[in-house]
Amino acid sequence: MAGGRKTKYHTHVEPKLLLIAAWARDGFTEEQTAIKLGLAYSTFRTYKDKYPALSAALKRGQEVADVMVENSLFKRAMGYQFEEVTKERIIDSGQVKRHGGQSELTDKEWQFAIRYFGGKCCYCNERLTEATKDHIVPLVKGGELTALNIIPCCRRCNSSKKAIDLEQWYKNQPFYKEHRLNKINDYVMLVKDTQANSVGDIGELTITKVVTKEVQPDVVAQIFWLKNRRPDRWRDRQDINHSGGLGVQIIDDIGGDLDDSDKD
Ligand SMILES: [Zn+2]
Repeated sequence: MAGGRKTKYHTHVEPKLLLIAAWARDGFTEEQTAIKLGLAYSTFRTYKDKYPALSAALKRGQEVADVMVENSLFKRAMGYQFEEVTKERIIDSGQVKRHGGQSELTDKEWQFAIRYFGGKCCYCNERLTEATKDHIVPLVKGGELTALNIIPCCRRCNSSKKAIDLEQWYKNQPFYKEHRLNKINDYVMLVKDTQANSVGDIGELTITKVVTKEVQPDVVAQIFWLKNRRPDRWRDRQDINHSGGLGVQIIDDIGGDLDDSDKD
């Protein structure tokens, strides 16, 4: 090639042929493409005539776009199925009750509480042969039946404390120990933290339902398709029948002038 001088085609267009095809696929016009390439539209047209690679890239992109729309239209015209997936947060009923503050503590929680206090009364430190459930806030004062409000103590302490405020009662006992009161408070904090953390664990989304749904064939898409693909057989008029569906007339005698027939 004489001189081998490089034009803007080689710098502005050739390295971007793939991109140009993609733009065409995305629906950009040739004028818009020229602007994106930094070229005058007239120059772009000249290149399109001169370089088959450019016209091929444009054609390729436009064809992809056409096929995509065609496929989509065809799918709508024919109807299709899809799976509707429902996901829900599954919360076990025990958890619901706990957070609603209405359920008794579970056996597991109770066993944990006894272990936490070393199998001893949380007040007098006597070894528990029979652990009784003491409500930190007495039930008669609105205390709950949850792990947060229940600690293990001996029967004697339990009967003695009754509905008296915990600290008020405990500090008046001969076996009162500040470190044991702290341990009770620590226990309540621990249970609170554990429950707060477990909310995340039980709140996970789980698939609860998969329903196969059907999208009915779309009559407008059908008509559009047929009128454009088979203009010889499908006339530009639809009759709506009384059942609500759209019917399309097939015209067999294509010899006549269809546009003039049946006009009011
Ligand atoms: Zn006791």
